[in-house]
Amino acid sequence: MENKNFCQSCSMPIDKPELMGTEKDGSRNKEYCTYCYQNGSFVNPNMSLDEMKKLVKAQMEKMKIDTATINLAVSTLPHLIRWKTAVSDESI
Ligand SMILES: [Zn+2]
Repeated sequence: MENKNFCQSCSMPIDKPELMGTEKDGSRNKEYCTYCYQNGSFVNPNMSLDEMKKLVKAQMEKMKIDTATINLAVSTLPHLIRWKTAVSDESI
């Protein structure tokens, strides 16, 4: 159970099956959390990386997480699968 999953959109740890995103057929998506991905698509498909950074920061501040951890999570975002794709799309 050491294999910890992180959402590839918002970097939130997915440590419970109910936190996994859902596909159209109701199956679970292991890469994205339920807040980012539902019914086979992103909840906010037009969200930019900058918007996601602000959202993650705001959510973590609400949860009273320390600044170092917040900064680490925010700096992880550009490396996640969702945002890697977004960057390569821009260069086309
Ligand atoms: Zn997520």
